[in-house]
Amino acid sequence: MKYKIFIIIIVLLFGLITPLLWLNDMRNYLASLFFVNDLTSADVRAHYQQGSVSILIVPGHDNKNYGTWYKGMKEVDLVAEIGENLYEYLARDGRFNVTLVRNRNGYTQEFSDYFTKQKNNIAFFIRSVWTYFNELTRTQQIAISPQKVHHNRVNRKTQIALYGINKWANDHNIDIVLHLHLNDYSGRRSWERKYDGFSIYIPSKELPNHEVSQELARHLRKVFSRYWAASNLPVEKSAIIESPLLIATGAAGSLRSAGVLMEYGYIYESRFHTDLMLKEAAFRTYQGLLAFFMDGEKIADDFSWVFPYEWERNISFESRLKEDIAAAQAALFELGFYPPPDMTRRQCPINGNFRTCTKKALANFQKQMGIAGNGEFGPKTRAALNKLF
Ligand SMILES: [Zn+2]
Repeated sequence: MKYKIFIIIIVLLFGLITPLLWLNDMRNYLASLFFVNDLTSADVRAHYQQGSVSILIVPGHDNKNYGTWYKGMKEVDLVAEIGENLYEYLARDGRFNVTLVRNRNGYTQEFSDYFTKQKNNIAFFIRSVWTYFNELTRTQQIAISPQKVHHNRVNRKTQIALYGINKWANDHNIDIVLHLHLNDYSGRRSWERKYDGFSIYIPSKELPNHEVSQELARHLRKVFSRYWAASNLPVEKSAIIESPLLIATGAAGSLRSAGVLMEYGYIYESRFHTDLMLKEAAFRTYQGLLAFFMDGEKIADDFSWVFPYEWERNISFESRLKEDIAAAQAALFELGFYPPPDMTRRQCPINGNFRTCTKKALANFQKQMGIAGNGEFGPKTRAALNKLF
């Protein structure tokens, strides 16, 4: 009887001490995450000067949970294509050590293996960061910022993948994690298009990777704003939205790297519906990164994602999703004709649709070039553009 009590006492003591030891351990392990922001924009810029910045590209969602969709197009595929293009730009650059988590065929072998084999470690990681984070908030060492935008709750599998990516990034000393998404709003009816424009999500200010993420986001916003309209969804009106609970950008201090989530625009915007235009999204992201590294001059031509271009066909008014028109819009943009003077960039995106914006811009171009016409896209206009681009 006595020894039973003895064992019970031992078990109780063990049960009491282990979490204490464990918590203490975690505190040491995670302390740097909270009390010293150990990855700053200055550090990341220094890595660039040294010739190696590690970037992880994460096209949003996966084949099981494909995000939003529009007319048969799925977010999962469109953002994978942006990711593949961005990978190309960065890999070609030479200063970036770049990893793509997923392409159009799904997760790379490395990541699908990682999620399966490391599942328990990732689950432990999730518990650890949250235990510590809750402790910090309970003792009022940090205060959680209010959440302005509601994020969909994710299932366990997605949780493992998203926190797993953060853990992987921490373990591999990644400088920047870029999540790529297309936006939507809840309750949208199929014909509706209430909102458009890009927005950028970053960790809120109490999180350890806030500063570097915010700095990067500001440069991305600056570049995108030169060409694209920012979101007109009221809560996204500053284009950069700080979020305390988005796993992708490091909820609960789970990410050491800069964490930025791009919502390039709304899924129904035509600019995401051709291969060529998806390339622009990747190119602007690359430009934003170079701007962050104060190397924006490196890209002399803002439209090298499309030029040189050869226009071979006439296009009739009201045609939609024509790469020839997107390229013509880009050309007219560069020449200062697009959008036409009385119209805005929001009304006139580079989207491949031949409507009033393009017609007016073409008419002004034709006037300047001495071409007879009223905004048609015919042989003389094509010849003039082919000569210039
Ligand atoms: Zn998404």
